[in-house]
Amino acid sequence: MIDGAAIARTIREEVARDVAALSVRGMQPGLAVVLVGDDPASTVYVRNKDKACTGAGMHGVTVRLPASISQQQLLSQVDDLNADPAIHGFLVQMPLPRHLDADAVIRRIDPKKDVDGFHPVNVGKMLIGDTDGFVPATPAGVRELLARSDVETDGQHCVIIGRSNIVGKPMAAIMLQNQPGANATVTVCHSRTKSLPEFTRRADILIVAAGKANMLRGDMVKPGAVVIDVGINRVNDESAPSGHRLVGDVEFDSVREVASKLTPVPGGVGPMTIAMLLRNTVRAAERAIS
Ligand code: NAD
Repeated sequence: MIDGAAIARTIREEVARDVAALSVRGMQPGLAVVLVGDDPASTVYVRNKDKACTGAGMHGVTVRLPASISQQQLLSQVDDLNADPAIHGFLVQMPLPRHLDADAVIRRIDPKKDVDGFHPVNVGKMLIGDTDGFVPATPAGVRELLARSDVETDGQHCVIIGRSNIVGKPMAAIMLQNQPGANATVTVCHSRTKSLPEFTRRADILIVAAGKANMLRGDMVKPGAVVIDVGINRVNDESAPSGHRLVGDVEFDSVREVASKLTPVPGGVGPMTIAMLLRNTVRAAERAIS
């Protein structure tokens, strides 16, 4: 089992050490999160980010805005954060209410403060292997999990299920790079892929980010493959006090029989996302004073 919670804790400790080193130079890294509306999942996620930020000794700010905010008001909030010297990185929590244009908001963020790595400048840098940009936290976390679990990626066949801009596509770009911890042969599958099991059974490393509970079964996995489950799905469970529980995209019991390594949900990729976001913010702060 790949223990994402433990690896994320180690990264948060490393971040805290970097923050302490920066404080000697008179700088405290600052991360702001803009939360528009009160989507319950986003609210929990933003609270966790804030807690992790403070825990690492960083300056954490949550900017709460009403769901009724106009596009212009939101863009002017982004401008304020771009200009704020105490904030080295920030993000606007997605999804946004439907009347707001998320792409325009992302493009307005100063790429040097875009610690989510969604601005086209950072996406481009990631694609050409320029390490000077920011890589989105979730796929960066998956790469870190593989590296810290001693998974060989060089020349291995990595099959990714999902092609979203926040997970699948950046994941493919990362694993493709001619860099240590990457160098894989990459196949990307998606909702229009025919005969999905034919691809998944050929994977040495399988990264599943489809957002479909239990979609990857054991009979779709090559014996000995490494399986990374990015999915987070809420399913009904009458035995749970809340009436539901979280499961991944991987049918855990059947896949654990064949995989050599597997991430659980929860406790796998999830905790890595915040840890990598903190690391990106420290990097933004370091660049701001170098
Ligand atoms: P998305 O809905 O934007 O994209 C899902 C992708 O999966 C699409 O590209 C689609 O083509 C593909 N897909 C869907 N069903 C498929 C099928 N049956 N066969 C093959 N491909 C299929 O979702 P996303 O934002 O990329 O997130 C994916 C999952 O990862 C979700 O469960 C999400 O909650 C989770 N997630 C977790 C974290 C984390 O921190 N662990 C972060 C981001 C997303």
